Amino acid sequence: MMLWKCGHCGFIVEGKTVPFENCPVCGYAKAQFKQIQPSDIGTLDKVKNKTMRFTVLKAKGLSYPPDF
Ligand SMILES: [Zn+2]
Repeated sequence: MMLWKCGHCGFIVEGKTVPFENCPVCGYAKAQFKQIQPSDIGTLDKVKNKTMRFTVLKAKGLSYPPDF
């Protein structure tokens, strides 16, 4: 699974492509998302984004993707 990170707010999402037209957190266009590796994510960043991701996905009625 590929990881994509918003170049503006740091929100991380998993998928073959960015599954949004705009970042669900800050609203930036998906072109701002850059592909990253799991090893690029620091521990604090990972925890922060895991929480953020869960909140956002749950609010949108989406399933929580597997951990990385
Ligand atoms: Zn963002």
